Formats: sequence, C-alpha cells, structure tokens
Amino acid sequence: MLRNDALPVLQYVTQAWPLLANVARAVNSRVFHFVWHSKMDRVKRTVMHKEHLKGGKAVPDTPTILRAFFVCGCVRITLLNENKDHSAYRVFCFFLLPVWRRLGWDKWENATMFNWDLPWYYKETEKFLVEFGLNCVTPSLWKPRTIHRLIRSRETTEPVSDLPPATATRVWENVSSPSLTNRHKDIAWMAVKGGLAVRSFMHSRGLCPHRECPRGCPAEETTYHLFWACPFAQRLWGALKQEMEAHIPYPNITHHSVLYGLFPKTHSVEAIQGCLRILCCVKDILLYARTRLVTNGEVVSREACRRMLHNLLRDYTDKGNKEREKEEEL
Ligand SMILES: [Zn+2]
Repeated sequence: MLRNDALPVLQYVTQAWPLLANVARAVNSRVFHFVWHSKMDRVKRTVMHKEHLKGGKAVPDTPTILRAFFVCGCVRITLLNENKDHSAYRVFCFFLLPVWRRLGWDKWENATMFNWDLPWYYKETEKFLVEFGLNCVTPSLWKPRTIHRLIRSRETTEPVSDLPPATATRVWENVSSPSLTNRHKDIAWMAVKGGLAVRSFMHSRGLCPHRECPRGCPAEETTYHLFWACPFAQRLWGALKQEMEAHIPYPNITHHSVLYGLFPKTHSVEAIQGCLRILCCVKDILLYARTRLVTNGEVVSREACRRMLHNLLRDYTDKGNKEREKEEEL
C-alpha cells in the first residue's frame, strides 16, 4: 500500500514542499508496525535501514528518500536549469542563492535578487545538506537515487560482540546468505542482533518478570543460552550429529558456528552453506520448542525435533530443485 498508493502522492508533494516531521513520523511508524507486527521496535530503526552486509535489514528509509526528493528538486531547478526565464527558477533562486553561495556552488553576482531571510521550507535544504555532509557533492550528481545510495554507502558496519570488523562482515554475509529461506535469515539475524523474544530481552523491556531459562536452568535465558548453552539445546545438537557431519565434522561446530556461521577450520563454500542451512533449521526448531513450552507448557520430544528437521531440510531440497529447474528453462 505504501509503495503503490502513498509513496507516489508523497513523492509528488515533495517536489514542491519538504516532508513535514509529523508525516515522516507517521510513515515510519506504519513501516515498522508492518515489520514487527507490533508498536514495539525490537531493533533500532537506524540499524534496520542499513544494508544486509552492514548488519541491517535494508528497510527503506522512506522519510530520507522523500527529503532527498525535495532537496534534489531545489538543486536541479536552481543550478542545472537551462531555462533562466522560468518562474520556478526565479522563485527558487530568490530564496536559495544565499545557501548555494555559502556552499560555494554559486558565484557572488549581484545581478540576481535574493533573500537573506530563508523561509522554513527552504531551511530544510540546508539542514539536509549539513545532516548528511553532502555539501561537497557536485550539483550534477543530485538525483534522489544517487543521493540515497551515497547516504547508505557511508554507513558503518554494525559490530558483532567482540569480533573484529572483518569477521563481523562475514557474520552479516552468513546471516543473509541467499541459500537460506527468508524466515531463517530473520532468525539468524535476530539471534546476532538480539531481537528474539527470549526472557532476557523481554525482562529488559518490562514484559516478563523473570530472566531465567523456562526449562529450569539457573542461567539467564539469552540467545546464546537458548541456541547453545541450555542442556536441552546441547542434547539436541548431540542427537543431530549425524545430519551435520554430512557437511562439516561435528567437533567443528561451536557456539560461533551456531550463532554467527563461523567455523574454526577451512571448509568448502558448499559445505558451509549446507551446514548453515542445518544450523538455521535447528535454531528454528529450538525456537519452536521454546515457544510451545512457554505458551502451552508442552515439551517437544527429541524424536519430534528430528522429524521437523527432516521436513525443513526436505523443503530446502525442493527449493533447490525448483531453482535449478527455473535456471534450466532460462
Ligand atoms: Zn536452559
């Protein structure tokens, strides 16, 4: 709805007027309400806007895109317009020349009339330039898509606990691997970013009175505990040893492999992708078993977990076969 109905209208309006702060807030809250199915954000919005390889989820930053539309329009009308007699050119120049001159984009020629007292809607232009440090971008590059790409490219990669930056990039590559289903990408990403609704997360937001593991362990229920340290998880990893050894020797599976997709020794890309799929399936099962326990008080048996794993792996095989068939048809 946002892309098809609201965005074209807002895009049209922002060619003449900057986006109002309350409209930007409303658009953003609609987008994140859709993402989280709730009014509560689980991960910071600034992180969500980042690209996948920088640790984000590439959620469109609609207010910034719309703000870029307005500023690009201002720049292009005043500095790249061939028709100097056009009324829009004269009006925009009257207000914006002092800004362009401060930035060094226009020469001090007093032949054109201008206004020192900038109205609020043109102040947005200067605010946008300062906020994103775009005053060194030459006027010819001012196109909404280019500016948005430039803003995104300047973002830093999200750190991952105490891992070095190069390893953090590998972790983000692993959790957004195209060989995973969207659900598994989300689980893997949330496990690293700490957005899964485990008790530690819920307690810190005042949504749960306890922090301890619901299986009665004396430890806090964090993502690390749920997927690795909990005796239930350890028993399940042990029971599924055979399935994992088809790709990577079981002793090479550590908590770094489970949470970040990192393996202590060198393995082939295919082996790592195969193992990533199994690890994500098991995380999905552990999360399902935990939800059943907390909501229904039901303990999911090890046999049921194994059956679920085989079903999930069969889905991956079917997905792979369909993709291969499509490639052959092309
Ligand atoms: Zn536990």
